[in-house]
Amino acid sequence: MRLSQNRTCTACSTAIQGRSDKKFCSEYCRNSYNNQQKTNEQFVRSINSLLRRNRQIIKLFLETIGPDAVVFRDDMLRRGFHFEYYTHARKDKEGQAIRFCYEYGYAPTAHGYYRLVRC
Ligand SMILES: [Zn+2]
Repeated sequence: MRLSQNRTCTACSTAIQGRSDKKFCSEYCRNSYNNQQKTNEQFVRSINSLLRRNRQIIKLFLETIGPDAVVFRDDMLRRGFHFEYYTHARKDKEGQAIRFCYEYGYAPTAHGYYRLVRC
């Protein structure tokens, strides 16, 4: 039997006895680590789905209204838009911040209206 040194549990970092391919010190650590990984993936998936929905909403408005679409905030909310989720932000030539969901962006104009753009 090969003795490997410095092997520690992936979940709790305690030293592991036994087979050299073991990653966890116990069933408990293996399960709790895998459950945590699953939870993290679900979180990422739920954010991705919100971002994709935001993108789709802007895309549909632009396809329906045209390239200079200005849309009332409530009309975006009604379709399920989440203003707090965006992929990145950038300033336009006038210095106004535009938030993007992938290639589609939105920027507040006035009185609750948003200008929609495609980069
Ligand atoms: Zn452990």
